[in-house]
This record gives sequence, structure tokens and C-alpha cells, in this order.
Amino acid sequence: MDARPRIKDHVVEVMSAADITPWYRRVTVDPKGLFETYDPAPGAYLLLAVPTLDGSGTAQRMYTLHDITDTSFSFEFVLHEPAGPGCHFAQTAQPGDTVAVSEPPYHVVVPEVTHALFIADTTAIPAISSFLGSLSPDMATTVILEDGHPDHDLIPLKTRENTRLTWVDALTEAILDQASADLDPNNCFLWAGGERHIAKMVKEYARDRFVVPRENQHIQTYWIAS
Ligand SMILES: Cc1cc2nc3c(=O)[nH]c(=O)nc-3n(C[C@H](O)[C@H](O)[C@H](O)COP(=O)(O)OP(=O)(O)OC[C@H]3O[C@@H](n4cnc5c(N)ncnc54)[C@H](O)[C@@H]3O)c2cc1C
Repeated sequence: MDARPRIKDHVVEVMSAADITPWYRRVTVDPKGLFETYDPAPGAYLLLAVPTLDGSGTAQRMYTLHDITDTSFSFEFVLHEPAGPGCHFAQTAQPGDTVAVSEPPYHVVVPEVTHALFIADTTAIPAISSFLGSLSPDMATTVILEDGHPDHDLIPLKTRENTRLTWVDALTEAILDQASADLDPNNCFLWAGGERHIAKMVKEYARDRFVVPRENQHIQTYWIAS
């Protein structure tokens, strides 16, 4: 059990916002003392209280911390249509805007294994960057990213020397077979995040074909297509 006080409605301030691609936007914020009491785990995310589309209140949306320094950190947003409150916040963010952030009650503990396999879509690029930056240098990593945009290579995912990165248009069981062919399921950290179909497919795969011990897997639906 984590005894640290949880961050609740801590207000951070937008310093800058920039499009990496027309559909992927980085918003850099001043943490305003956030890291004095909060030490984010690899892949950590926050709940952002963003204005609802009609401006009548706020809605909670989850985004991952990226490029953390003492004086700044970023959120990276996949922009989409129809836009929801999270996407709209990113699209309109201006220096000086503020947003309240809260810490969710969970974080991922990376097991001591020799390989990590990440399967995701672009919403999880900040999380994967964070893991790749924090895992032991000896750990080999495989990253499978599902995305159909022709310009997705512009997104700066920080890979390592021992990272195998593959972009795919649509995740299939054959792609998972290929990615896991030379991996030992008992010596592998399996992480998946993205649209619900990715989480579902990876969960079934880890149950039926590449049976990673439950405590060594973290599979999460990040969003649900309408
Ligand atoms: C732990 C966690 C961490 C996350 N970190 C990030 C992150 O760092 N960056 C990031 O971009 N997302 C991240 N997400 C996903 C993000 O929280 C969702 O995409 C969220 O639903 C976006 O909120 P919204 O208000 O823009 O849209 P919503 O109000 O939730 O939905 C509005 C419409 O947009 C559609 N939609 C929602 N998200 C997407 C999408 N990504 N692509 C296409 N259509 C979509 C919905 O189906 C719906 O039709 C994370 C999710 C989780 C659970």
C-alpha cells in the first residue's frame, strides 16, 4: 500500500502548446510544485479536470506525464473527432491556462524480467516513452504500435538500442505471434494500452497463447471507439 499523500486538484499552468502532427499535440505545463510531494512511477498518468464542452462544469480525463523535469512536464494528446473535453482542452490550450490534476490510486510495478513487450496505439506513446526511459538498460524491449496515419514517424518516441519497434495498421494475432515468437512468457513484462479492441485482443492472447504470469502483465483500455 502506498502511504504517500495523494495529489488532489493540484493546479498546473500551461507554458506552451505545439502540434507535433495535425492530430497529435503536446501541451507543456509548469508543475507549480507538483513534484515536491509526488514522485511519478514509470508510465504514471493523472486525472485532468478539463472544462466540459458546454462550459458548464468539468470532466475528468486521463493523460500520461511526459518529459518530466523539476520545472516542466508535458501531456501529449491524440486529437480526434468528435472532440471530447480532453481533446478540446488540448486544441485550445494557451500559455497561462490552468488545469487541476489529481493522482489516480494505482501505478504499475515493473517485474524483474529480461524482456518487456508493449502493445498499444498512439494514446500510449507517452506511457511507453516513460517506461523505455526508466527500465533497466539490460532489459530488451519490443514495441508494437497500431496506427494508420502516414506521418506517425514524426512522433518522438524515445526508443533504446535494444528496442524493436513495429508500426502496424491493424493488430492481429499473427502480429502478436511474430512479436512474441522468441520471448519466454515467464520472463517477460507484458504491457498494453489503447482502444478497447487492443486491450481485449492482448488479454485473450495472454490467456490462451502467450501465457504471461498475471502479476507480470498490465493491460488497460485507454479509450473506447464510438
Ligand atoms: C491510464 C490512461 C492514460 C492515458 N493517457 C493518454 C495520453 O497520454 N494521451 C492521449 O491522447 N490519451 C491518453 N489516454 C486516453 C484518453 O484519456 C481518452 O482518449 C479520452 O477518452 C479522451 O477524452 P476526450 O474528452 O477527448 O474524449 P471523450 O469525451 O472520452 O470521447 C469523445 C469521442 O471521442 C472518441 N475518442 C476518445 N478518445 C479517442 C482517441 N484517442 N482517438 C479517437 N477517438 C477517440 C470517443 O469514442 C468519443 O466518440 C489515456 C487513458 C488512460 C486510461
